[in-house]
Amino acid sequence: MKRIILSITLFVFIAISAIGQDTIKVNSFTNDNPHQVLTLKKNSYFKKRAKNIIFLIGDGMGVAQVFSAITANRGVLNMTQMPFTGFSKTQSASSYTTDSAAGGTALSTGQRTYNGALAVDMDTLAIPTILEISKSKGYATGLVSSSSITHATPASFIAHQPKRSMQEEIAADFIGSDIDIFIGGGHKFFTERKDGRNLLDELRKENYLTFTSLDDAVNVKSGKLAILTAENHNETYPKRGEMLPDATEKAINILKNNKKGFFLMVEGSMIDWGGHANNTAYVVQEALDFDRAIAKALEFANSNKETLVIITADHETGGMAISDGDISKGEITGEFTRGGHTAIMVPVFAYGAGAEKFTGVYKNTDVFEKMMEAYGF
Ligand code: MG
Ligand code: ZN
Repeated sequence: MKRIILSITLFVFIAISAIGQDTIKVNSFTNDNPHQVLTLKKNSYFKKRAKNIIFLIGDGMGVAQVFSAITANRGVLNMTQMPFTGFSKTQSASSYTTDSAAGGTALSTGQRTYNGALAVDMDTLAIPTILEISKSKGYATGLVSSSSITHATPASFIAHQPKRSMQEEIAADFIGSDIDIFIGGGHKFFTERKDGRNLLDELRKENYLTFTSLDDAVNVKSGKLAILTAENHNETYPKRGEMLPDATEKAINILKNNKKGFFLMVEGSMIDWGGHANNTAYVVQEALDFDRAIAKALEFANSNKETLVIITADHETGGMAISDGDISKGEITGEFTRGGHTAIMVPVFAYGAGAEKFTGVYKNTDVFEKMMEAYGF
């Protein structure tokens, strides 16, 4: 008898799992706490050369993710205040559907490579990134991420590794890079290493000040900074608080000291993770947090007329669709068609010096080319 019950239970369990795999996941979120958005000055200084570029990547942020955040924030976002928009085609050299390493590399180097590769080509040879090119021309550089700073997206701007999983090797690539500021998780990849090196000691020898929280660095107004705010990834929003907007503001305040100009990449990492989890609330809260980080970049560009701000994504995640919502109440119902990435185009939003170059439909690699043109490189 017990056996029969066990078999029936097992059968029901398997049947439910099988249905689960084919069922589109539907779930809702209501945002009770909409944020104010900026009113941007008219973008009347376009066609000027960009002295500074602030490049913000919403990992996994397709049009559905953006529109769910628009709905949740009662119809407006900072990113939708930006006057120039386009679409980026996200394919990698090895796959119709990219991963974040190849997607990041296309944006950081202007070359498509195989999924998993970090700023290396199909033959695993290093390709210079926009961060490295701007550094070589005397610009200040920075990276900010809500995930580990060694994770695929930020890594594709500073590391050259054949596989994204090589996080200790990626951390070692920060040594000698001369990057001015980096803020994110990933402390353990700098200190608890198989090779026994303590990369934070090595950074201090390169005159970096090292911190484990933004609060500890609050009085530091200049110099080179490594701020590793978590052992691995930071918490999801709202547990991590205003880490991402605060880190963005901190990085801008350090980088703007450079007379020549700067390049800063900021990643909202976990929009992608909400997509993988097929979780509407997760996606929307991360997208809203990312939009508040965008506000810090736009505030700076709004007063500094030589700054270009670009928002885009590396790919879409979850095949998200929106089946219902209410803009007046900030209610959104999301549906997800898969647990992984999709191949669809992603939006690009631009504001400031050179922003007019970003209209149209183009390849992810063209985002790099347009940024280089905007700098006049
Ligand atoms: Mg990422
Ligand atoms: Zn992903």
